[in-house]
Amino acid sequence: MRRTAIYRDDLFLQHQPGYGHPESPDRLRVIYDALDKDGLGSGFIRPQFGPVNEDVLRLNHSAEQVRRVAATQGHETVALDADTHASARSHEAACLAVGALVDGIRRIFKGEIDNAFCLVRPPGHHAEQENAMGFCLYNNVAVAARWAMQELGLQRIMIVDWDLHHGNGTQHSFHETDQALYLSVHKYPYYPGTGSAMENGMDKGEGRTVNVPLPGGQGDMEYARIFNELVLPVARAYKPELILVSCGFDICKGDPLGDMQVTADGIAWMTRKMVEAAAEVCSGRLLVTLEGGYGLNAMRDGSLAVLGELAGLAQEGGWPVRLSAEKAEQLAHSQADCPALELAILIAREFWPV
Ligand SMILES: [Zn+2]
Repeated sequence: MRRTAIYRDDLFLQHQPGYGHPESPDRLRVIYDALDKDGLGSGFIRPQFGPVNEDVLRLNHSAEQVRRVAATQGHETVALDADTHASARSHEAACLAVGALVDGIRRIFKGEIDNAFCLVRPPGHHAEQENAMGFCLYNNVAVAARWAMQELGLQRIMIVDWDLHHGNGTQHSFHETDQALYLSVHKYPYYPGTGSAMENGMDKGEGRTVNVPLPGGQGDMEYARIFNELVLPVARAYKPELILVSCGFDICKGDPLGDMQVTADGIAWMTRKMVEAAAEVCSGRLLVTLEGGYGLNAMRDGSLAVLGELAGLAQEGGWPVRLSAEKAEQLAHSQADCPALELAILIAREFWPV
């Protein structure tokens, strides 16, 4: 078993966007409960970690943005945009969410852990440098990547985002730099409106944004092909020093906000490919963080699939969510019809050997 860390904290359940809001504490509660049941989570490392301070948030966000979110502390509900609400402890939870990613990266580079899964709320990938947006207060992945550039001197970080929605905030944070490569697979056109295949970054960042916009309805076989034929080859060519994954389970079958058809098998396969890429190019340095996902069963099974692959438990008995050898064989050779992938490959070919 690899040394896989799980980042979790009950403070993440204290961010309350309001009654009936899809981004509810139950999304994490079902995962935490599953890990606590029968000692399932007991083989994982549970590091101590704390919140980041304003200086770290400012690596990616404006002073005004930090001031606005921090000002919600202690207030019952504050609307930051039409669907992004903060409650009394949301700012604290958001600082701890970023803290989880930063601590995970630090420990991965110190060699204390092999990889990590940050089971955090609020999510981050829609948060812009200047604004909270789309259920996200701070951009967890973007702040953590900036921290890794500044504190660890990293020159190449690959961010793979498989949430149903395009991570506009993450793309915008890095579209002019070659220090990060942002690769997103998402439904398009759809919320938030960004993410066409023609958005490739600019100046030094040209080619360092790769978008795979999908029409909707895609499942395990299509996603497997995307990872086999595009994500892995781009990772091999970019040779990142660290891979971060923005993991959304809203691509799973039955999600109330989406119509993708991915199952826990597909999630396991995508994670397996990222583990493989990290092992090949960056000594296994991989951190996965939770973004969206609104179907509670998919949250639970998807998380177990991710953890099984990160830890290398998936091939062993006793782990409840496992990819069968037969399904893995099918996914490895997927030739699913996916014109959107073919178009994305044609565009990416200008920059990458795909
Ligand atoms: Zn999403």
